[in-house]
Amino acid sequence: MNEVRVRIAPSPTGNLHIGTARSALFNYLYARKGKGAFVLRIEDTDLERSEKKFEKDIIEGLKWLGLTWDEGPLDNKYLGAYSPYRQSERIKIYREYIKVLLEKKFIYHCFCTQEELEIERVQSQKEGRPPIYSGKCSNLSRLEVEKKLQAGQPSILRFKVPDKKMEFDDAIRGKLIFETRLMGDIAVAKDINTPLYNLAVVIDDITMNISHVIRGEDHISNTPKQLLIYEALNKCHPIYAHLPLILGPDKTKLSKRHGATSVIEFKKQGYLPEAMVNFMALMGWNPKDNREFFTLKELEREFDLKNVNKSGAIFNIDKLDSINSRYIKELKESKYIDYALEYLALENIIIRKNKSIIYSKTGKEISSKAIKKALLVEKARLKKFSDLFAPLDIFFADNIQYAKNLLIWKDLAEDQLINNLTNCKDLLQTIPDQSFNREELEKFIFSYLKKQGIGNGEFLWPMRVALSGQKQSPSPFELADVLGKEISLQRIDQALQLLKK
Ligand code: GLU
Repeated sequence: MNEVRVRIAPSPTGNLHIGTARSALFNYLYARKGKGAFVLRIEDTDLERSEKKFEKDIIEGLKWLGLTWDEGPLDNKYLGAYSPYRQSERIKIYREYIKVLLEKKFIYHCFCTQEELEIERVQSQKEGRPPIYSGKCSNLSRLEVEKKLQAGQPSILRFKVPDKKMEFDDAIRGKLIFETRLMGDIAVAKDINTPLYNLAVVIDDITMNISHVIRGEDHISNTPKQLLIYEALNKCHPIYAHLPLILGPDKTKLSKRHGATSVIEFKKQGYLPEAMVNFMALMGWNPKDNREFFTLKELEREFDLKNVNKSGAIFNIDKLDSINSRYIKELKESKYIDYALEYLALENIIIRKNKSIIYSKTGKEISSKAIKKALLVEKARLKKFSDLFAPLDIFFADNIQYAKNLLIWKDLAEDQLINNLTNCKDLLQTIPDQSFNREELEKFIFSYLKKQGIGNGEFLWPMRVALSGQKQSPSPFELADVLGKEISLQRIDQALQLLKK
């Protein structure tokens, strides 16, 4: 085969699904490795189910993942990039091909109504025959067809399926063989301008010189139908590679039931695109060693269809979390802060106005120093950026609510607890503002505890709970550092009042 030319052909009938995105990634990688072209084709012939908002979502998702396509009409709407090919803009091309197929009698008008087809189906079932179309309209004479068309009788176009054995070599699954006998004549177009999926896909792949069709294995059963159309048009078919399906942890096809399935949902949850790409590559592709971390560039070099598994790929959210948390950890501090702030603004957790940052929940300004500190405290713990929502609330809420019991350390008596918190308050008050940071607080408090012979837990636990109101949180030193002296003291007061009630 000459040049590598591959495509992803999503139907805009839903948001970009992780399975389609994975197919897009594998096509993209194959194109890059083979120094070929990657094409985006929006399969929007089904006008009733296709929607512009889904096309937008698909484009946004692919761009977010960095899977840019190499050609297409230039369109200012997508500034500088190619817009995708759209089937709805290719009617003229389909028309020419459909005419040829009609002239050569590979396809014919079928006038059977839904009711007639249903009666036929029931009859076949009764007689124990497979429920396939009898092909009766293929016997109509040219004159009869003309008459019916002129009378405005509705029809569709069917491809006359010969009885034969079809086979092809799948690059992933090896030789696949099909008998056409049970197919029945395939509906291939609604009319001369409106091909249905199997016909449109073949015409598009021919006219776009597609060398390899890399798609989900749910399309295997369509392949023999498409091969028949290639034969009728006297064209060579592309090489096929059918990818294993993505399954949920319960080994059924991944669906909404299992949680997020659309790429933009993962973006909204705060996964990094680099981590998503890495994770998707491992769903089906196998580097043949135990490496788990790959950049897009590394994948472009290493990807090989030979290393794609035949069996279903399990979608494991824990694995995605662990890959994403590693990518977050590896971000340089400044890049991490930029990304986190951008994400929080996009999710309306903060509002950025000129240089100031407003915390949406309280409508109050927070200092950029404080939010940066808060973000850095969380960096090592984050699985995804939405994990920031709860901790930010601890840091920036106007007041925190918690049960008194949470303050209690093991079997420490309440008056002792009050004593420790009062000492804590007095101690924090003596620390000068410029030393009110994690390192100094840590030094100061630990040396105090040592001197006084006070156990760490009995002092630090109530201090931490007083500052956070949580069972689990960052250390009391990190909390005090982000909260600042004034709020830290207020919160300790709040705890003391709660204990004295
Ligand atoms: N529109 C089809 C889909 O979204 C494309 C299948 C193909 O790649 O041939 O599944």
